[in-house]
Amino acid sequence: KVRVRFAPSPTGALHIGGVRTALYNYLFAKKHGGDFILRIEDTDQTRYVEGAEEYIQEALKWSGLKVDEGVGVGGPHAPYRQSERKELYRQYSDQLLESGNAYLAFDTPEELAKKRQEAEQNKEPFIYNSVSRNQMRNSISLSCEETQKLLDEGAPYVVRFKIPEDETLHLKDIVRGDMSVNTSTLDDKVLFKSDGLPTYHLANIVDDHLMEISHVIRGEEWLPSLPLHVLLYRALGWENSMPEFAHLSLILKPVGKGKLSKRDGEKMGFPVFPLAWEESAGYREDGYFPEAFVNMLALLGWNPGTEQELFTMEELIEAFDLSRVSKSGAKFDPEKVKWFNHQYLIKKTDEEIASLFMPILEEKGISISKDKLTAICGEVKERVSFVSELWEQTDFYFQAPEEFDEKAVKKQWKENTANILQSLLDEVIVDSDDFSSANLEAKVKEWITNEELGMGKVMAPFRIAMVGGLRGPHLFDITEQLGKDETIARLKYAIE
Ligand code: GLU
Repeated sequence: KVRVRFAPSPTGALHIGGVRTALYNYLFAKKHGGDFILRIEDTDQTRYVEGAEEYIQEALKWSGLKVDEGVGVGGPHAPYRQSERKELYRQYSDQLLESGNAYLAFDTPEELAKKRQEAEQNKEPFIYNSVSRNQMRNSISLSCEETQKLLDEGAPYVVRFKIPEDETLHLKDIVRGDMSVNTSTLDDKVLFKSDGLPTYHLANIVDDHLMEISHVIRGEEWLPSLPLHVLLYRALGWENSMPEFAHLSLILKPVGKGKLSKRDGEKMGFPVFPLAWEESAGYREDGYFPEAFVNMLALLGWNPGTEQELFTMEELIEAFDLSRVSKSGAKFDPEKVKWFNHQYLIKKTDEEIASLFMPILEEKGISISKDKLTAICGEVKERVSFVSELWEQTDFYFQAPEEFDEKAVKKQWKENTANILQSLLDEVIVDSDDFSSANLEAKVKEWITNEELGMGKVMAPFRIAMVGGLRGPHLFDITEQLGKDETIARLKYAIE
């Protein structure tokens, strides 16, 4: 059975890279009728951020990724929070010590720093491995008596994994294909820290095994750990039930090189939403619809192999395939993200859009009937990507312009314009009782033709009088909404 996990560390707000990892796990699980598990990896107490765990759950919920098993839901492998599984990891560390796959290391931070410094002087990295471990203070280089003495003295120690010497490891990754690596390039990583907690590596492998994870789908920053993880599975005797791996490439900055990060804030490197006490932008706060956000995210590093761009969650599940996840980084395009939101906005009915807009108007003290607002929303929706942009496209429906756009006036308001509008008012507008868009348009245009005035000479100033500038949807759709009295009032104000 397919079982995948999203295993974040509660170190802060989730950025889009993290949510994408969760999404791909979710899509893969659902596609194969499997389970999507949420595990919280909180063994690094120094990086723990209060509230981050609740945040993660809420971000998944907002994105529509339902957790089948894990923190907040429970399940047969509970607890799913690593800090609550502490006791469990030691036995595996002991098992590795007993089988000779791990050893105790007593090196102090100062001793390690000194070694690194020496290596740096020789312009090579310090690797704690089969060569250097003999010069360090650990249970391999020291005699049994010396080791025992240190233990009796209560000297702090860590447990390190004993990486085999000069072996070529063959690795498989669903996204990257086959790779090989020589074990001599790897570090004897710490598995168990002196504070009595496992490191990420040990806890992650033990939990993936115990929770019967079938596929590990995670960010590419973990690819360098893959050889160690494979060796750990082998050393623990779990090689035959080892999960398959898929490492996702980075999401790249819109311009320049490198990874999209917090520093790209204005280019949307911001989180799904800010942590409770943080004041920063977030996709939710910026008015993104979760469906649009998820749709955009799915295509950031995966493609369906067709031209289709708009997908519901069901369609994504149906189409998703790890083999179409791209090896190279996906460039983030803020404009495209807005485009997605626009597509989801115009997909809504005019009435739905009106319901979203109504509270914004109420806050401004404007009251308007739902029907009228629905009609207005229908007229302007093509022009906006966010509900929050509706106001700037519709303000003139609710309040008469007091000032007129200078540039527009300069260009369109001629000496005889006031006279023309006055005649239009007297000869057409005051006599029109049917103010429907089509009717008034026909009448005004007929008048313009008879007067031999030219469309632009009348229509542009007419628009300025109604809207205050040259923006806005079809002019007669606007006057229909304004009604006769308001249209007359605005014409008069402009003529003066
Ligand atoms: N806790 C790791 C993280 O925060 C999980 C990595 C993995 O999925 O193995 O990214």
